Amino acid sequence: MASQYELMLAQYKSGAQRARVFSESWVEANLNCPKCNHRLSRTRNNTMARDFTCESCRAGFELKSKKGLFGAIVPDGAYDSMVSSIRSDQRPHLLLLNYTQDYRVQSVAAVPRQFLVEEIVIPRRPLGAHCRRAGWRGCNLNIGMLPPDGRVCCVTDFKAEPTERVRAAWTRSEFLDEYRSSQRGWITLTMSLVRRIGTETFSLRDVYALESEAQLAFPDNLHVREKLRQQLQVLRDKGWLEFLSRGTYRLTHGVPPQ
Ligand SMILES: [Zn+2]
Repeated sequence: MASQYELMLAQYKSGAQRARVFSESWVEANLNCPKCNHRLSRTRNNTMARDFTCESCRAGFELKSKKGLFGAIVPDGAYDSMVSSIRSDQRPHLLLLNYTQDYRVQSVAAVPRQFLVEEIVIPRRPLGAHCRRAGWRGCNLNIGMLPPDGRVCCVTDFKAEPTERVRAAWTRSEFLDEYRSSQRGWITLTMSLVRRIGTETFSLRDVYALESEAQLAFPDNLHVREKLRQQLQVLRDKGWLEFLSRGTYRLTHGVPPQ
């Protein structure tokens, strides 16, 4: 059966244009703010890559859509402006929307802006001398590096997630907003390693077993274990995990469903 969008989109010649028109109209008609569940409206005079704004909490969202599924790597725009907007804490939240060949939305995940840290921005090779924009350098976002907390599922397998679950998942990591982007790199990496352990209760030794991955993300740091211990304390202070006894921890909200 043809989706309601196919007729509407027939008038657009370019695939990129069709994708844009479709995904924007879909979000406007079907998606509410993952933070407060109010309507999202399109941002006029789009600046700073903000496509939608929540009519209640004023949160801003950038929409990225793809026919087929996003993998761990999401292409983005200019490297320099991405990094400077992260440093100035001016990023909107990100919405990742996947749709099928016949324009049905398969999944939507929201990436809260607190998870957009420099460590996940990978520079692409600058455009060569023969290109119109020679020297311009784009970037990719390594979303795969984020803990599952950094992808709040709003639609899964064509079905909207219950509002309460979306809001709870969003709220759990809002504490990250209190930290500067330079600090959030370590905190989100630690969350990611802890989630990888996969159990509700875990030990410091389990975290240290993943030390080499932390070293890979921060190659210049000579005190990886110390940094990891500090982040566990931050996560304890913010109620994301609790200390049970010396060297043993428990995730406060358990292991997220996958
Ligand atoms: Zn809102």
